[in-house]
Amino acid sequence: MAFDLAARLAERRAADLYRQRPLLESPQGPEVVVDGQPLLAFCSNDYLGLANHPEVIAAWQAGAERWGVGGGASHLVIGHSTPHHQVEEALAELTGRPRALLFSTGYMANLGAITALVGQGDTVLQDRLNHASLLDGGLLSGARFNRYLHNDPASLASRLDKAVGNTLVVTDGVFSMDGDLADLPALAKAARARGAWLMVDDAHGLGTLGAQGGGIVEHFGLGVDDVPVLIGTLGKACGTAGAFVAGSEALIEALVQFARPYIYTTSQPPALACATLKSLELLRRETWRREHLAALIRQFRQGAQQIGLELMDSPTPIQPIMIGDSAQALRLSQMLRERGLLVTAIRPPTVPAGSARLRVTLSAAHSEAQVQLLLNALAECYPQLENTTGERRCEID
Ligand SMILES: *Cc1c(COP(=O)(O)O)cnc(C)c1O
Repeated sequence: MAFDLAARLAERRAADLYRQRPLLESPQGPEVVVDGQPLLAFCSNDYLGLANHPEVIAAWQAGAERWGVGGGASHLVIGHSTPHHQVEEALAELTGRPRALLFSTGYMANLGAITALVGQGDTVLQDRLNHASLLDGGLLSGARFNRYLHNDPASLASRLDKAVGNTLVVTDGVFSMDGDLADLPALAKAARARGAWLMVDDAHGLGTLGAQGGGIVEHFGLGVDDVPVLIGTLGKACGTAGAFVAGSEALIEALVQFARPYIYTTSQPPALACATLKSLELLRRETWRREHLAALIRQFRQGAQQIGLELMDSPTPIQPIMIGDSAQALRLSQMLRERGLLVTAIRPPTVPAGSARLRVTLSAAHSEAQVQLLLNALAECYPQLENTTGERRCEID
């Protein structure tokens, strides 16, 4: 048989890499029901607690009454409706850029931007730890593709010296599995010095970084000349769905002409854009969400250090606990689950070999008491790890 899927699946299972989807039986929030079990979750990207916010839900409902449910067509035909346009204007303002272009998902925004900007005869340089969608965009573009050492401007500079054609440097803003920030001022300087463009995917920084939630470019005070191509996604801190590219007038017009994942797809439901508009308003105005989140991050890091956990260099809501061994990471995740806590174990190949970890994410919707519950459980379970046999348990990522 040509497609021996059973053999491929068995192989994956034997390598302990088989993935299963936990079934969520409640809305997003700190307290969820998963596979029939009530759990306190620390693994969602709903960093500001907006995914199930009553005002956002009301905006969605009112949007559906006014605009219907379906986008109906692609943006270039008859699918670009007023709410989509308003979201673009709000995003341009939030990020302090001339224009923004709304995409249906972050994956598509990344494929669209990279393939529209570089092709055969050009060069794309990416951080080794970039998100899969950025790597896929680089491969699909047909440009020469090279990875530089993680967050290392010197490694980037040596590759820039060998680059040919139009050169695009691509990095995550906040690295999704480590939580650290890209050194954007240094990366931007290296790129500008050699006439290359810097593209930043700020999926995890938008809403969480910057006084107004404008993300990593607001955090560092960088403009369009430093970061010509800025990507943000709306399914994380914003709590809805979709993504955008923000930049110059010429960039956005070029994407409308040439970005195939923008052109050849139906626009997102206009009611979703209505929900996003409300969510962006809350994200910007309710600064207490970012302040509370920052307090939780401090509380977690202090508590974790007292227990002796190995944290990473992360000032963001992504607070991984480094374990190393995959079986041990799964074991800790399972012990926490037995105590009613859901924290995902992340293993290779999602992270480099020998760097399995528990990826704790915090949200403004968590209370200090809930973070304390997590710390108490970690204090109890973590010391037991060394004595385990490393036996493998069911995985939950
Ligand atoms: C989640 C994520 C994406 C994909 O965004 P979607 O809107 O979920 O498709 C892209 N880049 C990074 C860094 C992400 O974390």
